[in-house]
Amino acid sequence: MMQRHSRIYIAGHRGLVGAALYRYLSQQGYTCLLTTPRAELDLRWEPAVRDWFDQHQPEYVFLAAAKVGGILANATYPVDFLQDNLQIQTNIIYHSYRTGVKKLLFLGSSCIYPKFAPQPIKEEYLLTGALEPTNEWYAIAKISGIKLCQAYRQQYGWSAICAMPTNLYGIGDHFDLKTSHVLPALLRKFHEAKIRQEPSVTVWGTGTPRREFLYVDDLADACVFLMQHYDAAEIINVGTGTDLSIGELAHLIQKITEYAGEIIYDSSKPDGTPRKLLDVSRLHGLGWQARTPLALGIQKTYEWYVTYAQGNP
Ligand code: GDP
Repeated sequence: MMQRHSRIYIAGHRGLVGAALYRYLSQQGYTCLLTTPRAELDLRWEPAVRDWFDQHQPEYVFLAAAKVGGILANATYPVDFLQDNLQIQTNIIYHSYRTGVKKLLFLGSSCIYPKFAPQPIKEEYLLTGALEPTNEWYAIAKISGIKLCQAYRQQYGWSAICAMPTNLYGIGDHFDLKTSHVLPALLRKFHEAKIRQEPSVTVWGTGTPRREFLYVDDLADACVFLMQHYDAAEIINVGTGTDLSIGELAHLIQKITEYAGEIIYDSSKPDGTPRKLLDVSRLHGLGWQARTPLALGIQKTYEWYVTYAQGNP
């Protein structure tokens, strides 16, 4: 079991997930949290990762470092999404194993599942159909990461586990309209339209795709729960178990940001996967459930955005 004094490496501690893990573990009294500033360690560069592990010798690793982004970013930077992620995860998994890390948790994504997977999506649907083309670069990299963890467990009996979070949002999110995911993008669009008194906000696509959203602090809680209570080859979904349409999300954000104008749908922009809802019965069976209702999580994220994030996409 991870102890309060264990040496815990959070790879990607400046990202949405890594930062939430850092906050959560600190609050819980874990005192030896290891991080690597990006300027000092390029996780894509194997010799540097090797040196870092030799020097710091972590006991537990949360692998939350990845090149991430929304539907447009994936289409614009396919090499980064495939190659950077393959390099980062392979380096960290290999050197964790090599230096005797006791357990590693690899963070995947719900986009690893087939585009037309039955809903809600069970863990066993992995690799049963074609992927959604708009994010297959990222998905292929993440699937490789899962397989590498499973291969290490099978060949060497090493404790690598894989959590598959649904769409995430929360404090520390990215609000750049070109690269961000839908929830922060809409928060920013509605907020700016309110401030500038614009008559309408444009939402991409038809508004009909359905998505599930998990508050990132809940994910951090789930990751620590899994690190402590789960040790098996099978991947495990982390979500809320409920979804809503992009149109419903837009209306909710319109209400939270108190924007009085109209919503316009731009159907020339892609919809992506029609629905993405995870089956979380395996995680519920272990005794974990998400706590933060969507409206509350969005409210907290909005307050954070207004206070800290404006002007820093
Ligand atoms: P996905 O979940 O991997 O498809 O990624 P996104 O979060 O980027 O997009 C989810 C859905 O929201 C897609 O149907 C988008 O077309 C739609 N959407 C609507 N407005 C926006 C927006 O302003 N930004 C983004 N990224 N997506 C939007």
